[in-house]
Amino acid sequence: MNALHYFQALCQVQYIPIDDILRCGRYLQDKTSIEDYSYSADGLITFLNETNWEQWQAKGASAVDRIFFEQLIIDTRAALSNLNEDSSKLIDEEADFATISQKMFALIESELGSLGLNVPDAKIEFVDDFPGVYAGRDYMALTIDEGDRQEHGLTPGVYIKKSKYIPIFGRTIFLHEFIHVILGKAHPFELARGLEEGICELIGFIYLGCKALPISAVRNSFIYLRLRDQQLSMWSTYRDYTRQARALYDLYGLNGVAEIIRRGRPEIKRIEQELLSHTSPSLDLVAGEFDPVLTDNLRWLLDIYTPEMTVSPEGYRLAQLVERGITTKELHTISKLNDIEFQRGIKDLEGHVRIATLREDRSVVAFCDNYQSVNPYSIRYRVPSG
Ligand SMILES: [Zn+2]
Repeated sequence: MNALHYFQALCQVQYIPIDDILRCGRYLQDKTSIEDYSYSADGLITFLNETNWEQWQAKGASAVDRIFFEQLIIDTRAALSNLNEDSSKLIDEEADFATISQKMFALIESELGSLGLNVPDAKIEFVDDFPGVYAGRDYMALTIDEGDRQEHGLTPGVYIKKSKYIPIFGRTIFLHEFIHVILGKAHPFELARGLEEGICELIGFIYLGCKALPISAVRNSFIYLRLRDQQLSMWSTYRDYTRQARALYDLYGLNGVAEIIRRGRPEIKRIEQELLSHTSPSLDLVAGEFDPVLTDNLRWLLDIYTPEMTVSPEGYRLAQLVERGITTKELHTISKLNDIEFQRGIKDLEGHVRIATLREDRSVVAFCDNYQSVNPYSIRYRVPSG
């Protein structure tokens, strides 16, 4: 599965949780596991070429599963052509946990240091299992802060479980987590949530992320982890907290956000309450340091990207074929969908995303928005349910 994560992070490819792909791939013949293929472009191509739809179908996969997988394979193949040399180097680096943690820690120290933040004596460590009382927990990343040191004698830092680590995406997570470590140093027993999460997203995930990874990988990671149409509602709240932090960044820049981190959790809670009660917060901050890369990415991710622009796999296929004046009969034929799939796809295009309208007698496409050169940033397809 790691191979697919690489491509989801580095290429323009549909952002689908690996667990969902596995769920829909439940009809894969037993021996065909993507883990059997090497973590490389060649490995993925071999996997795709050896993926045998007829065998899945024989085991009872639904028609929607078929369309979903066909589309995923088409898109992944197309995305492979975007994989450049830098991406290949990054993939190689992912095999070496020690190098990743050293590089990330050095980056955190230098970048946060230049924002005037003290980086505590903490570690980033890849582990087989979490230390002490946290052993056996089923997360990817665990943040241990000053409170855990006082209560359990553990060394503060971000611990990443090797077996749970999501290549590339995982780095943005532990950059986020490290901001909690800094805040936890002075105020270890206050619950982190709300605006604090937004600040961790803005400074850790996106700002530091863009220093550590190609910008496209950070954008893809944020979309994959926070902006999916079919995600847990908890992750949508992280997107909203990032918007709150961004409102402060827009006014006060990195200088202002760094100062809020320096003042710590009580100040974050005070500002959050004042923002939410729509009073004018008395912030007493000096504005400065507006980073163009951060500004641009916040704008694109939070203002421009449209998380809910998704259709069924059938609708997605039709979106690539529909054009003004085409008859529904012609569209049906070239789509290779059966009657039920075709009707569902048309309904999807006419409804939620409103990218096609049929003539009253439903024989011809009267109007349409042209999505024939679709990419995952403009429109996406849903994972089949069930
Ligand atoms: Zn967090």
